[in-house]
Amino acid sequence: MRLHLRPRSRDLACQQAVELVTDYLEDTLSPAGRRRFETHLAGCPHCTEYLAQMRATIKLTGQLTPADLSPGMQQELIALYRRWKDEPRTE
Ligand SMILES: [Zn+2]
Repeated sequence: MRLHLRPRSRDLACQQAVELVTDYLEDTLSPAGRRRFETHLAGCPHCTEYLAQMRATIKLTGQLTPADLSPGMQQELIALYRRWKDEPRTE
């Protein structure tokens, strides 16, 4: 299952950020990686919500394993992006 996001640089950054979410939550990112991740989050409500959802998932399951970033999780991300795209902007 591939992510069918538009190949804009912002989306590529988001995919990279999403890949770092697990490391970020487990606090295993390097200081530079962590700073880069947080910088992206500061300007990206999509990834901010994704991170919030991941945190909620961890609260529910009590853990975050690599299996949680399975294709199922990627589909969830795609669904999130579709929802944002379809929703009228409220900002
Ligand atoms: Zn993002």
